[in-house]
Amino acid sequence: MEGKTNISEIFGENVFNDTVMQERLPKKIYKELKQTIREGKELDLAVADVVAHEMKEWALEQGATHYSHWFQPLTGATAEKHDAFLSAPKADGKVLMEFSGKELVKGEPDASSFPSGGLRATFEARGYTAWDCTSPAFVKKDEDGSRAILYIPTAFCSYKGEALDQKTPLLRSMEAINKQSLRLLRLFGNTTSNRVTPSVGVEQEYFLVDREKYLKRKDLIFTGRTLFGAMPPKGQELDDHYFGVIRERIADFMEDVNKELWKLGVSAKTQHNEVAPGQHELAPIYAECNVAVDHNQLIMETLKKVAYLHGLQCLLHEKPFAGVNGSGKHNNWSLTTDDGINLLDPGKTPHENIQFLLVLTCILKAVDEHAALLRESASDVGNDHRLGANEAPPAIISVYLGDQLEDVLSQLISTGEATHSIKGGHLHTGVRTLPDFAKDATDRNRTSPFAFTGNKFEFRMVGSRDSVAEPNVVLNTIAAEAFSDACDVLEKADDFDMAVHDLIKQYASEHQRIVFNGNGYSDEWVEEAERRGLPNIKTMVDSIPVLCEEKTVQLFEKFGVFTRAELESRAEIQYEAYSKAINIEARSMIDIASKHIIPSVLQYTTALATSINQIRSACAEANISVQIELLKDCSSLLAATKAALKALTEVTEKAAATTEGRERAVYILENVVPAMAALRQPVDKLEMLVAKDMWPMPSYGDLLFEV
Ligand code: ADP
Ligand code: MG
Repeated sequence: MEGKTNISEIFGENVFNDTVMQERLPKKIYKELKQTIREGKELDLAVADVVAHEMKEWALEQGATHYSHWFQPLTGATAEKHDAFLSAPKADGKVLMEFSGKELVKGEPDASSFPSGGLRATFEARGYTAWDCTSPAFVKKDEDGSRAILYIPTAFCSYKGEALDQKTPLLRSMEAINKQSLRLLRLFGNTTSNRVTPSVGVEQEYFLVDREKYLKRKDLIFTGRTLFGAMPPKGQELDDHYFGVIRERIADFMEDVNKELWKLGVSAKTQHNEVAPGQHELAPIYAECNVAVDHNQLIMETLKKVAYLHGLQCLLHEKPFAGVNGSGKHNNWSLTTDDGINLLDPGKTPHENIQFLLVLTCILKAVDEHAALLRESASDVGNDHRLGANEAPPAIISVYLGDQLEDVLSQLISTGEATHSIKGGHLHTGVRTLPDFAKDATDRNRTSPFAFTGNKFEFRMVGSRDSVAEPNVVLNTIAAEAFSDACDVLEKADDFDMAVHDLIKQYASEHQRIVFNGNGYSDEWVEEAERRGLPNIKTMVDSIPVLCEEKTVQLFEKFGVFTRAELESRAEIQYEAYSKAINIEARSMIDIASKHIIPSVLQYTTALATSINQIRSACAEANISVQIELLKDCSSLLAATKAALKALTEVTEKAAATTEGRERAVYILENVVPAMAALRQPVDKLEMLVAKDMWPMPSYGDLLFEV
């Protein structure tokens, strides 16, 4: 890919952003649109007509031929349907390039083939996409720029207005947190802020493997992860990959990813090698919640697309390889006012910052009361391999506050008053030529699933492949509820100062159990968490029921984020997604074991037997103990493989005959998943015995170290 490398020149060049709108839209229209965006009002159709016209003219200049409403149904992927900017031919046979306000604002994809979890019967096909004017439209181009399409971010609802996507509840939750945060700010005498939005920065982890080798791994192709594979002699034990020198081939790839993203207005900022060999990370600068969610989708898409162009394959699965770290997504979250105040900024002396302490203790309350729901928001099939395993945060939700804030809280709890904050002090390097600099007041804790990192919370449980919409819906809504509860008390108080002081102390004491600053990966923590009564929900299937619990329904209905029916439908969709994904994995294993692995082992054992016979007849005294031992070992592992394959086939068939929904998902979790592990065992042992050139696919070593 060639082109300009001046970031400021290419940044946002494919986006119908604020600058473009200011330039192209009549002043009055621009103002009205901005007001609509700011105040979350409904867009006037006359305004939409003008915007649509200008958007189309701009897109045509970019070479676009089509427009597409771009939405995020509950498949985990994004969806699009392209329409040409084309009117019916006139009498003279000529066509006009048309795009009306109505077409901009509303689309009507056939919704019947998207997951609805029973919200909509197949014959009720109508679904609508509605323009989300708070996330800018953009033009996506192919490599040489000859194909260009205008993408319009939209929400996707059923005919009856039920949310069928990720964006609709996200926007609703942003409304809720905006309203409740403003209520809280007003109590503290703030009259200048008019809007509060969640700021979100998403760190994305991924693996890169060589595409030629990828194409020889049916398991990667069908499921995104390896279903078999013995550990290579070297893994990640030397810690030599994390932050290591980025190799040329990868650096070239990253350069093109960045350029693509910058053009799309995504502020890709940080890139580095991650812990596992072949693993990397990309982080953009944080943005408004819904834009950050859209951008994360674009990041995942761009990583895949550019990898393909570089002869690489990008693996976004949470656990592509057993035995080395999996991939996650850190969701950094804070609350920002339209005049630039971060509600999560403690300042230098947090003990004096009463508003901050209230916000903080409200969030502790929110997370403690809805720990299971927050954990559920990070559930996805791939994340089951990650949560609690190896590097990942455990499946127990806890909050890390760091020394400074934990100290302030314990002062509050013990004496009812916080009088001082621990200071960071200076870092003395002991080297004369290096400057001594001011240290943060708090160290970091990488083992915490929900960590306060200076002026934001970092939710680290999210899976690498999953949309961050759901975690943010939950964060926004549970925080809104806690703020609302606090405001209910404080608005009625005679003595505000006293009341707020008492409330902070009450929340800090009542929800202290959710705070944990120690090593979240230790076994002691699992026991300690159990003593504290914190939930430890180990699997996706076990996490789903919380969606339909009364407490959850009340929470979401109160703030207009989900109805009961929408929640029930989402639970159904999750069970279905789980069953389908594991079913594909099981069937892939059956296919690969039967058609590739067993035949290869047969070939190898036959070769061994032939050579044994040949050596025997050539030289009766030759020592053939090695050949015989290998033949014996391989044959018995082969027998074990066949038996495990049979067992897996049986449970997979039974699963298909089990009632859909929770029943099937539970059956699969309890029967199919262990049967898959049982099949993998002898096969991985065989891989260590069979000659490399006879093994039917590239090894972990080939995939991880030969990129
Ligand atoms: P850390 O070192 O704590 O992981 P980084 O500076 O690497 O933090 O940032 C990680 C992500 O968090 C980036 O996407 C960054 O833009 C984002 N981020 C930084 N400050 C905030 C904030 N106040 N609110 C939300 N996200 C933020
Ligand atoms: Mg981080």
